[in-house]
Amino acid sequence: RKCLNRIKKTRPLNAYITVTEELSLKQAQQSEARLRRGVPKGPLDGIPFAVKDNFCTANIRTTCASKMLEGYTPPYNATVVQKLLDQGAVLMGKTNMDEFAMGSGSTDGTFGPVRNPWSYAASYRTQAGAAPDSDWVITGGSSGGSAAAVASLTSYLALGSDTGGSTRNPGALCGVVALKPTYGLVSRHGLIPLVNSMDVPGIITRSVNDAAIVLGVLQGIDVKDSTTVPAPSALVELPEDFDVRNLRVGIPKEYHAPGLSEETVAQWSRVADLFERAGARVEQVSLPHTQYSIVCYHILCCAEVASNMARFDGLEYGHRSEMESSTEVMYASTRHEGFNDVVRGRILSGNYFLLRHNYQQYFLKAQKVRRLIADDFGRVFGSGVDVLLTPTTLTDAVRYYDFTQEDNRTRSTQEDIFTQPANMAGLPAVSVPTALSRRGLPIGLQLIGPALEDKKLLCVARWME
Ligand code: GLN
Repeated sequence: RKCLNRIKKTRPLNAYITVTEELSLKQAQQSEARLRRGVPKGPLDGIPFAVKDNFCTANIRTTCASKMLEGYTPPYNATVVQKLLDQGAVLMGKTNMDEFAMGSGSTDGTFGPVRNPWSYAASYRTQAGAAPDSDWVITGGSSGGSAAAVASLTSYLALGSDTGGSTRNPGALCGVVALKPTYGLVSRHGLIPLVNSMDVPGIITRSVNDAAIVLGVLQGIDVKDSTTVPAPSALVELPEDFDVRNLRVGIPKEYHAPGLSEETVAQWSRVADLFERAGARVEQVSLPHTQYSIVCYHILCCAEVASNMARFDGLEYGHRSEMESSTEVMYASTRHEGFNDVVRGRILSGNYFLLRHNYQQYFLKAQKVRRLIADDFGRVFGSGVDVLLTPTTLTDAVRYYDFTQEDNRTRSTQEDIFTQPANMAGLPAVSVPTALSRRGLPIGLQLIGPALEDKKLLCVARWME
């Protein structure tokens, strides 16, 4: 009830697309009865959670923040949602996002932009010296609704999706913990795909320990997702006394990117110093293909988008245009009306990259560079480095007004600069809030680890928290 009340109070944040009030209360009552009897279903029994609106939820509308899925109600739950419900966790609702998870701001969905709860925090208001209503900052994205839900205390945990950074980016800008697990460790079944070869369900929580508990519940083989791998260990609680002595922390020199704010750099070195003083070995490392990563990410992303979005033709799901003079006209007008210009742009680009005479030059080349990027990480981790420490985003959250200026489209792409390489290589990565900027807004740092070393990554993250 407290969470539902807070959702009502924080309505202007626009964090939720759908609030499942009746269902939440019913689930909470059942959970309360179990807890009274002393027979909880699991560690998450009774814990309120929110789900990004690109995960299927049985009998609850699932929109991907797109007109295209207007009126679409899935008949089944995504595996991750089902697992949380099986534990007795209480669903609060479906969260707002960029349309089909394409974006870095949570400003592009059909339900309007998400506002960062920190826009209303005293620390920001005093710094900004202006009415927050005209001066609010973005959450980052595309899982901005999920990050805002956790940051504004309307849910204790939220699911996001992470294809190029969509969980970590809003996590950093909203001051919460955001984990992108190893590719394949958590089932994608029921997550409406963006880029199948990179998508991972993400976990957003208030603390690293909470993220570990949730990962313990979600991880492991799912017969409905052939890319899932067995969990290396049952991960429930992290040790209290993780020792960072002898830990090798790599600082990739290529991550000193243009546009990185001085304050973020200062945080990055402060935390590196903390590691060093605690006895870790902090060393500069090189990931030489980093500079090509973002371009290749976009080619591969668009190519998979072009293929994935083909299913939305007005026949099976959601919106159908009334222009039905022929099947082709119906397809075309449905897609024109249903998708926003970001989605249409990516479909067009993807089809271009996949044309027979472009396939070799763009798609195959990007695939090859993707391998080189993965090999860069492999070499560094192979040499004994345990984790990489990097910024998550270039700066703290920017104002909505600035973010949506026309010439800032490229900026939105640049936002993924530190996050998408981990998706290209399938590695686990976590963003941890480390400080407030001078503007009173959160700054997060990212840790990247070797594949399937999610537990160790979280141990280090917890130390850093
Ligand atoms: N900003 C990236 C994109 O638009 C990331 C998206 C994501 O991780 N879902 O592709």
